[in-house]
Amino acid sequence: MQGLMMHGALTLGAILDRAERINARGAVVSRGSDRSLHRSTYGDLAPRARRLAAGLRDLGVPEGARVATLMWNQREHLEAYYGVPARGAVVHTLNPRLSPAELGHIAAHAEDEAIIADASLVEVLQRIRAEREFRHVIVVGDGDLPPGAIAYEEALATGDPGLPPVAQDDELAAAALCYTSGTTGHPKGVLYSHRSLVLHAMGLAMADSFGIREADTVLPVVPMFHVNAWGLPFTCPMTGAQLVLPGRFLDPESLLELLVGERVTFTAGVPTVWLALLERLDQEPDAHDLSALRCMLVGGSAAPKGLIEAFERRHGLHVLQGWGMTEMCPVGSIGRLPRAMADAPAEERLAYRARQGQPVPLVEIRARHEDGFVPWDGVTMGELEVRGPTVAAAYMGGDGADRFTADGWFRTGDIVTIDPTGCIEITDREKDLIKSGGEWISSVALENALMALPAVAEAAVIAIPDPKWQERPLACVVLRPGHGPTPDELRERLAGAFPSWWLPDRVEFVEEIPRTATGKFKKSVLRDRFAGNPGT
Ligand code: AMP
Repeated sequence: MQGLMMHGALTLGAILDRAERINARGAVVSRGSDRSLHRSTYGDLAPRARRLAAGLRDLGVPEGARVATLMWNQREHLEAYYGVPARGAVVHTLNPRLSPAELGHIAAHAEDEAIIADASLVEVLQRIRAEREFRHVIVVGDGDLPPGAIAYEEALATGDPGLPPVAQDDELAAAALCYTSGTTGHPKGVLYSHRSLVLHAMGLAMADSFGIREADTVLPVVPMFHVNAWGLPFTCPMTGAQLVLPGRFLDPESLLELLVGERVTFTAGVPTVWLALLERLDQEPDAHDLSALRCMLVGGSAAPKGLIEAFERRHGLHVLQGWGMTEMCPVGSIGRLPRAMADAPAEERLAYRARQGQPVPLVEIRARHEDGFVPWDGVTMGELEVRGPTVAAAYMGGDGADRFTADGWFRTGDIVTIDPTGCIEITDREKDLIKSGGEWISSVALENALMALPAVAEAAVIAIPDPKWQERPLACVVLRPGHGPTPDELRERLAGAFPSWWLPDRVEFVEEIPRTATGKFKKSVLRDRFAGNPGT
């Protein structure tokens, strides 16, 4: 027997309608390339997004086409998030920090027909155009237009603000596209449906998730060019929470100006951004009024325990950890402290929050070792697999089919333990795990322990081939100024916390740890440098 309820399609159009009718007064503050703040509302967003949709239609961009964006966290990017799907097309966010060759490859793979680029990125745009011919090039902002390009405002001016260009009733249609950051191998395309984005947006608003509500003012530091700024540009217009978009200025000074000036209540970013902010706050502990800020979300890489503790103890700021992946819209789990832990000793509560937490509703988890699924004992390591309506079922073009299991789960490539309550702890990436004498050593655990030492600014641990043990750990360490421990002294400091066979055989002192375009450690560069080299 079927239920007798209406089938309302879960589409981004429904979010935009709500933003316009119910949340019209919700503010959108956007920092331009000249650092000025532009103030508008969700009431302004909807007609401009529809104008963009109509403008794209009038240019001849067909339904289903991919429209690339090359922009910062700015209001025009928000308009494209809704305007491109309102045309029935797919908004494909490009990461300007990738090389033009990589971007050209991605744009060609996605078969992008058009591109909308910010004027501050015209040089990058032109270099991508040398690799990929776009039928339409639209440039946002002032300045001379490159050959063959039209101005964004001109594209909008011709569009009809009233008419939705396509009837949006197919919630399974593609709305957005983002390529994985590809720390190894070629990036792969993740094609989000309207439905997955709407469900994800609602999930973020849940109280035990990000808990975003109308009274919030949200500053996504996480870029809109990577996994939809973790979904916040969909959750905020849906709930009515105000949005503060920082443009391309992500230094602590600029962020503090917005956090304080706009009385931001919720912000989200990767650990490196918050480490830089922490350093700044430590220098000027009482100079900034952050009393409105109720939560700083950290994700994208593991949040060091010291970071969570330092913000809380020294500055009274609450840090919440989220884990996710491009393939998951992206949020998969949240490290929120459960009720049962409320009265636990401070150190235990902190240790719990430094883990990646329980899966969000509708996401199922399991972990697999070579011998089968691992028990949820909080000890046994296995590769995490996930399933749910916000998880990719395949990559675009059928790439990476081996990441999807025959029974419909996605293999994350993250090595985890799962405790009896379903709390995940990421111990490594599959490719970074050190397999020594048939046992697994977590590079992440060693890195965290090293980075907790006062002498160490950053540390990355890699596997190097070993004739006897198959692989052994090597630690690359960036020292803080004024410190000069020997490799043996560092090993001694780790000795109490790990079995002796976990300790790195070699320690190399380096100037910096190379990073990917999304700010994660790029260990492949270190492996190339050290793995074939016997060292000193
Ligand atoms: P991306 O698809 O570029 O967002 O990268 C996803 C990967 O980043 C995950 O598979 C994890 O390895 C890593 N990651 C994301 N969030 C966290 C976190 N909170 N802790 C540890 N690793 C994380």
